[in-house]
Amino acid sequence: MSKRQVAMVMDLNKCLGCHTCSIACKTLWTRREGMQHMWWNTVNTQPGTGTPHGYEDMGGGFRGGEPQKGFRPSEDDFGKAWTFNHEEVFHGGNEDAFLHANYGEWNNGENWKGPNWDEDIGGGEFPNSYYFYLPRICNHCTHPACLEACPRKAIEKRDEDGIVLINEDRCHGYRFCQEACPYKKIYYNETLGVSQKCIFCFPRIDEGVTTACSRQCPGRLRFVGYLDDPEGPIHKLVYEHKVALPLHQEYGTQPNVFYVPPLSSTKYDEDGNPTDENRIPLEYLESLFGPDVKAALDKIEGERERVRHGETSELMDLLIARKWLDMFGPFTKHPRDVVTADPIRIIDPSEDAPQAAVQYWKGEV
Ligand code: SF4
Ligand code: SF4
Ligand code: SF4
Repeated sequence: MSKRQVAMVMDLNKCLGCHTCSIACKTLWTRREGMQHMWWNTVNTQPGTGTPHGYEDMGGGFRGGEPQKGFRPSEDDFGKAWTFNHEEVFHGGNEDAFLHANYGEWNNGENWKGPNWDEDIGGGEFPNSYYFYLPRICNHCTHPACLEACPRKAIEKRDEDGIVLINEDRCHGYRFCQEACPYKKIYYNETLGVSQKCIFCFPRIDEGVTTACSRQCPGRLRFVGYLDDPEGPIHKLVYEHKVALPLHQEYGTQPNVFYVPPLSSTKYDEDGNPTDENRIPLEYLESLFGPDVKAALDKIEGERERVRHGETSELMDLLIARKWLDMFGPFTKHPRDVVTADPIRIIDPSEDAPQAAVQYWKGEV
């Protein structure tokens, strides 16, 4: 256990599936060599097989406190990076050329998988079809299976905020962490021979700036803060209002990313009339977010009703995010206001190996 724990709550009722979060993270953290295929933030469409493809069937995590066998996702499962024909279009002198992606050996289409293979396929039968988006990052778990699995002790959980980091100087690329993480949120950098993953933007957190994926989100659905801060949004949503739930808590790692489950449109009957039945099956939501989904949805519906009748609701004000900066607990500083002389910050994830370098593009995101 760390002394404190930072956490994120994502309100799935507001996610647009726009991937601004994915791009914010990509721009900031995964532009180095060997990271082309990495998307530390992904936005999966549900129902769907997620990223990497079929991760929920790849094992890992704990059951009854015992570590479970896990499989290592291949780069194919994540979806390899593709390239664009920029050179031809912009410098090739061919006026008829148009920009397109080159999927390399996956170009036959059938076998190609991308980081969101099931995008917008969804579930249900027309006119009762449905889908919703599920953004995923590393959960910075309280009981991280990745950390326990590493024989090099290259993974650590920071005491001051519970952020889980891989020390690339200690990592020898054995990839046991990939097998152990039940959320499969660790990537392997073949060029550098090390595992890499979401760092919860810790150089920003250290400076009082919220994560790039939360600050850039146009849907205003990502709350950030400390779990134990009673004035902060995380504590209120998770513990007071009890509307934010972890994904797959049965994996046993105690994740610290929580989700406000999606409300559902009503089903139509055969004559096209609306019914009282929800389109998104409750059992499906329970398979993702556990048995408390119904209570969470009922609570949100109840508060919506209060507002419709002219009453005030702290929960609705929070979820609507009227005051944007209130979403980020103590991490409200603008990136531009961070005073640092060197845009390449040398970070010190452990006392043993103070050398890992991270590009920190001050003010860009
Ligand atoms: Fe959803 Fe926000 Fe990410 Fe867009 S930026 S996909 S709204 S979480
Ligand atoms: Fe480790 Fe996976 Fe938990 Fe992240 S989500 S801390 S990689 S077990
Ligand atoms: Fe990327 Fe930071 Fe979001 Fe993690 S918290 S997914 S490192 S932007």
